[in-house]
Amino acid sequence: MEKHSMLYEGKAKKLFETEDPSILLIEYKDSLTAFNAQKKSTLSGKGSLNNKISAYLLEFIGSRGIPTHFVKIVDETHQLVKKVGIIPLEVVVRNITTGSLCKRLGVKEGVELKKPLLEFYLKDDALEDPIVTEDHVSAFEWASPAEVEILKRISLEVNKLLKERFLQVGIVLVDLKLEFGRTPDNTVILADEISPDTCRLWDISSGEKLDKDRFRKDLGNVLESYREVWERISKGEKR
Ligand code: ADP
Ligand code: UDP
Repeated sequence: MEKHSMLYEGKAKKLFETEDPSILLIEYKDSLTAFNAQKKSTLSGKGSLNNKISAYLLEFIGSRGIPTHFVKIVDETHQLVKKVGIIPLEVVVRNITTGSLCKRLGVKEGVELKKPLLEFYLKDDALEDPIVTEDHVSAFEWASPAEVEILKRISLEVNKLLKERFLQVGIVLVDLKLEFGRTPDNTVILADEISPDTCRLWDISSGEKLDKDRFRKDLGNVLESYREVWERISKGEKR
C-alpha cells in the first residue's frame, strides 16, 4: 500500500491516505506529550513500540469478536487501518482510582473499584477534553443513544479482555482510554490506539508504573517500561 498525502498530524501519530480511499496508513511518532501538550519530548523507539503494542492488542481483541479499525502492521512504525469518522469522545474505563479521577473528586488513590467505572470526555484539545455526561452526548448529538450503548458495551468488553490478558503477564490494567469511529455504512468500530500512552499499566508485584505516567511524573526509564510491556505481551503469549 502506498503512502499518499498526509491527512492529519497529531501529537503521537500521522495519518496518510493510501491508494484505497477506505484505508489509512498510520505512522506512530517518537514524540511524547502530556498535560494537553504543555509537556513535550521525543524518545527514539517509542513510535515503534507503540505501533507493535497497539497492533498486537487491536488484533487480539479483534480475534475475540470486537470490531476494530486495525487491518495490518506494515513495518516498525506503520500500520494500516480502516478510515472512520471519529466520534468526538474519549471513553475512559477505570479499574483502580488514580489520575484525573482522584484530582477531580478528591477520592483516594489506588483503590480497586467494585466494578469498572466508565466515563465520557469530549475530544477537544482547546477545551482540555472536559468530562461530559451521557445527557451532554445526546443533547449535542456527539453520538446517538444507540451508539452510546455500543460504546459502553464494547469499552467494558475491551477492558475485561485486556485486564485478563495483561494479568497473564503480571501487569495490572489500571485504566484505559478508547476512541471509536463510524465506517461509511455507519457501523461503530474501535479506532485509534491501545498502548502505554493510552493505558495505565502497573507491575503486579512491585506496583511499578509501566506507562506514560513515567513521563508525566518524570520517573525515568520511559522507553524501557514500554519495551517491558511489549516483551511481556509478545513473549508470554497464551492465546
Ligand atoms: P491527537 O489528535 O490527540 O494529537 P494522535 O497524534 O494520536 O492524537 O492522532 C491520531 C488522530 O487520528 C486522532 O485524532 C484520532 O482520533 C484519529 N484516528 C485514529 N484512528 C483513526 C481512523 N481509523 N480513521 C480516522 N481517524 C483516526
Ligand atoms: N488518557 C489518554 N488521553 C487523554 C486523557 C487520558 O489516553 O487525552 C488515558 C490516560 O493515559 C489514562 C486514562 O486515559 O490511562 C485516564 O486518564 P485520566 O483521566 O486519569 O487523565 P490524566 O491523569 O492522564 O490527565
